Amino acid sequence: MTAKPDLLTVAKLAPFLMEPLQDAFTVHDRLHENDAAAFARVAPHIRALCGSGESKVSAALLAQLPALEIVSIMGVGYDGVDVAACKASGVVVTHTPDVLNDDVADLALALALNIARRIPQADRHVRAGLWPQGPMPLATKFSGARMGIVGMGRIGQAIAQRARAFGLSVAYTARSAKPDLPYTFHDQVAALAAQSDFLVVITPGGAATRKLIDAPVLEALGPQGYLINVARGSVVDETALIDALQRGTIAGAALDVFENEPHVPEALRALDNVVLVPHIGSATRATRQAMADRAFANLQAHFAGKPLPSPVPECR
Ligand code: NAP
Repeated sequence: MTAKPDLLTVAKLAPFLMEPLQDAFTVHDRLHENDAAAFARVAPHIRALCGSGESKVSAALLAQLPALEIVSIMGVGYDGVDVAACKASGVVVTHTPDVLNDDVADLALALALNIARRIPQADRHVRAGLWPQGPMPLATKFSGARMGIVGMGRIGQAIAQRARAFGLSVAYTARSAKPDLPYTFHDQVAALAAQSDFLVVITPGGAATRKLIDAPVLEALGPQGYLINVARGSVVDETALIDALQRGTIAGAALDVFENEPHVPEALRALDNVVLVPHIGSATRATRQAMADRAFANLQAHFAGKPLPSPVPECR
């Protein structure tokens, strides 16, 4: 019987991914974080890494893994993986695009509706027994508003479809215009923000998009505008955002992702014109199962010598 390949996990993985991994691999669960001596013994044999969209796979970690062949990420974003260092060592990186588009797009719309209609605030109003003292302040109409989408890829397009069903007009920015799509393109994010009531951010994270949403963009969004971030915390200058929310430069923000997750600044938590959720974009049972199946399928295909279902673009 051939020995199972050694695999290191670089995130706490759900049982529905761990179980198939343990059947097919000798799994070392986050050994690099938990036991340096034991990790040093197995590191030369590790042929696969498996992690989540938030996992960090640095050049320093890769340098300790001379037998590594594949990094399988259960998530579409892989900004924590040093893909250039992987490629330089002949390591392929895979991810799980498409299967989470619906969930992330659903959440983006839910966040936009929640911040516009002040649903969490209304829930708190009722729970606090304040209703008998009078009605809530009036909220912002969502249907028919203008949505600006920063990033018109797989998920951005799913968000746009939903927005259109609500009668919103849609404009967007991306690295390149998409002439086949029926939406207005702006090559500058500030110009898009100036034309938007709801600015929804859904680009990848990483160096290219770091603080893309900065003070001038928030200024352009203006006092009637709302920011929705379902991309990565790194894409928004969180200090500038807090300042804009405190000063009323923008009307509000609804955020799934944060600069220093899972830590959310007290200044943000203290505000009433925000809706804050803990990175739940893809967090439904059906979608997490589909992501786990794809992450496992990438590993299986690699070790069977078959074409990979979903390598990242840089590794195609
Ligand atoms: P995708 O299909 O690759 O689309 C990414 C879009 O961002 C593309 O339209 C791309 O432009 C645009 N873009 C990239 N760099 C940009 C830049 N510097 N400035 C402006 N636009 C830029 O990816 P996806 O599948 O839609 O996923 C997008 C991201 O969503 C992921 O990378 C991840 O970070 C995030 N995400 C979050 C959650 C969550 O739980 N909140 C879940 C899943 C994904 P071009 O089209 O011109 O290339």
